[in-house]
Amino acid sequence: MKTAAGLFVLIAVGGCIPRPEAPGPATTPPPIGQPVSPPPPQTVDARIFGLNGSPQQGALLTGTVPTGTALLLLDSKPVRFAADGRFIIGFGRDATAVSVLEARMQDGRLLRLPLTVMPRQWDVSSLPTLYKGTTPSAAYQRLRAAESAQIAAAYASQADSDGWRQSFRWPATGRISTLFGSQRLYARGVAGAPHGGVDIARPTGGAALEGTPAVAPADGVVVLATDHPFSLEGNLVIIDHGFGLFSALMHLQRIDVRTGERLQRGQAIGLIGMTGRATGPHLHWGMTWNGARIDPMRLAGPMPG
Ligand SMILES: [Zn+2]
Repeated sequence: MKTAAGLFVLIAVGGCIPRPEAPGPATTPPPIGQPVSPPPPQTVDARIFGLNGSPQQGALLTGTVPTGTALLLLDSKPVRFAADGRFIIGFGRDATAVSVLEARMQDGRLLRLPLTVMPRQWDVSSLPTLYKGTTPSAAYQRLRAAESAQIAAAYASQADSDGWRQSFRWPATGRISTLFGSQRLYARGVAGAPHGGVDIARPTGGAALEGTPAVAPADGVVVLATDHPFSLEGNLVIIDHGFGLFSALMHLQRIDVRTGERLQRGQAIGLIGMTGRATGPHLHWGMTWNGARIDPMRLAGPMPG
């Protein structure tokens, strides 16, 4: 297992620097009777959006919109912002290098911030073996379609939660056995799916992980607590932290929360197990922002103790 140097280093872009005011109108109003054309976009710097964190694959950044923002857009898609202007944006594992954050102002101006999304080095292991894929049966495909529909419905929820504003904690402590983004390359150029979360397991000879509690990494609302183990995820809990940010905790031995239940950071959600597709007891913690897979380690920081 190798980690890219500087993996845990978050660079604050203007975090402690007072934010300058958004620049004023770039154009003078047209004479009366002339057609009004929208002013050209103004390129601004990161401080205008109060961005904290560096744009990088798998990263989640916080920011504050400039006063007078009517609409916030990331790559032309609307991004929610709170009454106090706070917002989050995330970049998936395979996010492309160029991204644009824009604020459409109430006075019609368009402020543009081009972002360079830095690539990360993933833990990619090449195996000499062939990928052992099997053709799923019709029965499995029906079962999986029903499970996927439940998962998709959970991610479509828009719970009212401020969990996204909090500092996230680890849902369990232990050895990290599989990093976010890691991938296996098989013989004949077949690539396995990248790992969508981080796996927490205990070292051999350590205290048993199976049966120990997993806790909510931040406040949120349970949008899925499966009533039976799903074929891949096993017993699965999905938590909506608000503003498009979700946690998924998988392979649980037992679930102690219900769909719709409001959770506080640190509250137990169930016991760690090895249900679903798991070769041993571990907790898989996946995070997404508006569908983009985020590296949970970037939010929770180094594993304690
Ligand atoms: Zn996993």
